[in-house]
Amino acid sequence: MQRRRNGVGRAVLLQSALCFGLLWLLEAADESPDQFALPDFSIYHTKDQVFEEVENLVKANTQIMKLDVLAISDEESDPPYRSSIKVVTVEPGGHSKDHEKKTRLLLNYGEHGRELITVEVALRLLQILADPSAELERADRPGGPGKARLKALLHNTIFKIVPMENERGRDLVEAGNLCERKNGRGVDTNRNWEVHWGYKEKDYDPNEEYPGTKPFSEPEAEALLELAKKFRPHVWMNAHSGMEALFMPYDHLPHIPSGEVAQATLQVLEKLNNVTCGGRCALGSGGKSVGYLAHGTATDYMYERLKVPLAFTWEIYGDNEAHFNDCFRMFNPVTPESFDRVVTSWADAIFALLELLPSHPAIPRVHMHSHTFGRKGDVGAKRSSKESRATPPGPDRKLGATMQGWQSRMNDAARLRAQVFDVPRGRKGLIGGVCVGLVAIVGFVVLVRSGGRAAASKRAARRRREDAAR
Ligand SMILES: [Zn+2]
Repeated sequence: MQRRRNGVGRAVLLQSALCFGLLWLLEAADESPDQFALPDFSIYHTKDQVFEEVENLVKANTQIMKLDVLAISDEESDPPYRSSIKVVTVEPGGHSKDHEKKTRLLLNYGEHGRELITVEVALRLLQILADPSAELERADRPGGPGKARLKALLHNTIFKIVPMENERGRDLVEAGNLCERKNGRGVDTNRNWEVHWGYKEKDYDPNEEYPGTKPFSEPEAEALLELAKKFRPHVWMNAHSGMEALFMPYDHLPHIPSGEVAQATLQVLEKLNNVTCGGRCALGSGGKSVGYLAHGTATDYMYERLKVPLAFTWEIYGDNEAHFNDCFRMFNPVTPESFDRVVTSWADAIFALLELLPSHPAIPRVHMHSHTFGRKGDVGAKRSSKESRATPPGPDRKLGATMQGWQSRMNDAARLRAQVFDVPRGRKGLIGGVCVGLVAIVGFVVLVRSGGRAAASKRAARRRREDAAR
């Protein structure tokens, strides 16, 4: 009996060892950090270089640019949590005190540390705004807005650009944690806003989207909130990477809002998709296209609470083929060519957006009259004042009555993870299944055979006894 158990045990053990060895080898091959991309700082700027460049640009263009450095902190935490947010205000028409008559864009980059490419877009945008001559020339292309019109649009626009919201998270990334998306103390600031804050989906992963202890617990989110309240933008654009998408509210509901304003916004995105994204971008409701919801996001708050009529999350790049742990590659282009393509397209996207804004019902018409360029395409200028939605987005403004939604930002990671991780898991799962099957079959065969041998020897013994009895 003992020998039989040993036979089965040895066979199963041997099988298991072989299987686990094979799985371990596969795992090791998959996880090998040798294959993972590292940021190439001959293409990318380091955080210090980003702000050095920003400062230089502002210093060289003080007539149109201004830099505010906001010291932000949570002094009550132990130890105190401190960071800063740098905001570049750009008024291509020259600084003015009265921002009411201008179209106001609040553009946020670098909210998630690992999405370095978004910061590069901000830098490129600032460079173009500092010297828009090439962009103006380009406007004269067939089908373009024309130089004079783009110039007028720029003169009537005020930008507030945050090149890197999440400075502390970026520090962690530059220290080698290339998968870090949260801020310097483990909170996803794009889950820290008050709309539908703290709701957790079934696939909630605290490593990716911990929303903080309460709404606006994080100084980064609080600072952006104050900035937006004061500035009252017509456009909020939150830049991310992980996929290619042009999203609008809602993140926490699986559909886009109803109503004229939301429909017009969707049309803007549809046009941008062609111009900027080659038609590849997922559009509108992220919930629908991505498959799950995000709660407590900045874009939902901007739209629902601050009544920012055009609230966007743009996902500018993603590598679906990248391994789950190959974060730099997953969120950032790794060749100089793709880097340049992404940065150029998404910096230009802001100018394309600018051209589309006058046809949107929530954008003020007034200033376009002061610069008449006689282009027939300026539909907005002909719109009656009744149709024109109130300019300063205010709490009294009725936007789409039904709040619907789009989708999530965490998405960048989790959705990709789902896609990416399923591949190795599928292969490992198959091998694991085959192993279990083999172990079972071998075990069964050994058992049956040894069981057969046992029965035979029992029969032989009985026969011997019987023989003896006879
Ligand atoms: Zn992101």
